Amino acid sequence: MSLQTLDKEQLNVFQRTQQVIGVALKNLGYGQEMQELLKEPLRLLTVRIPVRMDNGSVKVFTGYRAQHNDAVGPTKGGIRFHPEVTEEEVKALSIWMSIKCGITGLPYGGGKGGIQCDPRSMSFRELERLSRGYVRAISQLVGPTKDIPAPDVFTNSQVMAWMMDEYSRIREFDSPGFITGKPLVLGGSAGRESSTAKGVTIVMREAANMAGISIEGARVIIQGFGNAGSFLAKFLYDAGAKVVGISDAYGALYDADGLEIYDLLDKRDSFGTVTNLFNNRITNRELLVQECDILVPAAIENQITEENASSIKARILVEAANGPTTLKATEILTQRGVLIVPDVLASAGGVIVSYFEWVQNNQGYYWSEEEVEEKLEKILISSFSNVYRTAEQKGIDMRLSAYMVGLRRMAEAVKWRGWV
Ligand code: NAD
Repeated sequence: MSLQTLDKEQLNVFQRTQQVIGVALKNLGYGQEMQELLKEPLRLLTVRIPVRMDNGSVKVFTGYRAQHNDAVGPTKGGIRFHPEVTEEEVKALSIWMSIKCGITGLPYGGGKGGIQCDPRSMSFRELERLSRGYVRAISQLVGPTKDIPAPDVFTNSQVMAWMMDEYSRIREFDSPGFITGKPLVLGGSAGRESSTAKGVTIVMREAANMAGISIEGARVIIQGFGNAGSFLAKFLYDAGAKVVGISDAYGALYDADGLEIYDLLDKRDSFGTVTNLFNNRITNRELLVQECDILVPAAIENQITEENASSIKARILVEAANGPTTLKATEILTQRGVLIVPDVLASAGGVIVSYFEWVQNNQGYYWSEEEVEEKLEKILISSFSNVYRTAEQKGIDMRLSAYMVGLRRMAEAVKWRGWV
C-alpha cells in the first residue's frame, strides 16, 4: 500500500503522522491492534505552571509531556518553548522521536514536551522560574530510566542546566542522566550542540552521492538560522558548498553567488535572527522556490505544501526541521524525482548524540569530540542506507520507508512483551 490513496492536505501534523503509521504497520504485516496502540502516545500529561513574573504578578503557563511508547526502553525527546505549542503537536513530535530512535537503533521510545510561552518576551530569571516549575510539575513522570528530556525550539543548554538542577534537588542526588543537551561542565557531551547539523551534513552527503551531486560547489538553501540551520550553514560553507539562501522568522536572504556565512553568523542573535539587519530581504515563501541543488527546511512545520511543491527547484530535499512537508507535497516531489531525506532520518543527529551523552553520564566516563563524531557517522550512514534500500526495494517513497524501518523494532518489542 502507498500513501497515494490518502486525503493528505487537510490533515494536521498529528493526523498526518497517524496516517503514515497506519500504512507503514500494514505494510509490515501488523493488524489493527498494533495500529491502535502505536497511533497515540501511551501517556500525555498536561500541566499548569504558575510563574512569579519580574513585576510581581503571577502568570500561569500550560505545558505538556507526551510519552509515545516505552516497549523498547525509556522515552526520550526535547522540550519546546513556543507560543504555538499544542497538545497535538507534542503528541506528533513524541511519535517522530520513536521513529527516529527506531531508525537509528537507539534503546529508547519517543517522548516530547512543550510549554506555551514566548521566551523572546521573558527575562532570564522568568525563564529560569518557568523551567524549574515545569520540572516540578512533570517530575513524577520523568527520570534517567523513565523519560529523558532534551532541548528543542527555543530551549538551550542553560534551560537544560536549570532543569537538571531542579530535578537533582527534588531527588536529592546529582542526576546528570535526567536530561541531555547540558553544558559540558554539567555532564554534557562533546559535539552535542552541533550534532543535529552534523547529522544533517552526513545524510545530505549520502543523498548527494546517490543523486550524483558533489557537496563541494553545490548550491544550498537553508530555511531557519537557529541551532540546526546556522551550524549547518557553517559546516556546508566549510565543506565548499555554496550557501545561496538562508532565512529566519522575519524573512530571507538569497544570493546566487553564495552568502557570506561567517558574517551572518557573527551578526545573528541567540534566537537565530539576522535578516532584520538587511534591506534586500525576500520572504520565506519566495526563498523556498529559488534556484538551488539542495533545499533544507530547518525552521518550522508545514512549509512545503501542495501549493509550492511543483515550484521547488532543488533535486534533494533534506528535512532538518520536524514536519516541514505535507503528504501531498511528498507525493508531488517524489513523482518529480526529488530525493527526500525525511525529518525522522535527517534530524536524528541530535538524539543520537543525546544518547551518547546519557551513556557517558551513566558510565561517568567522557569521550572526545572525534569519538562522538565517528560513532555518529557510523550510525547515520547505516540508517540512511537502510531507509534508502527499503524505499528502492519496495518501490515506496522515502518517508514511508523511514516509518517502516523506524516502527519495526518497536512493534516487535510490543509483541515480545505481550501487549498486542
Ligand atoms: P531554533 O529555535 O534554534 O531556530 C529556529 C529558526 O527558525 C530561527 O532562525 C527562527 O528565526 C526560524 N523561524 C521561526 N519561525 C519561523 C517562521 N515562521 N518562518 C521561518 N523561519 C522561522 O530551533 P532549532 O533547534 O534550530 O530547530 C529548528 C527545527 O529543527 C525544528 O523543527 C526542530 O524541531 C528541528 N530539530 C532541532 C533539533 C536540535 O537539536 N536543535 C533536533 C531535531 C530537530
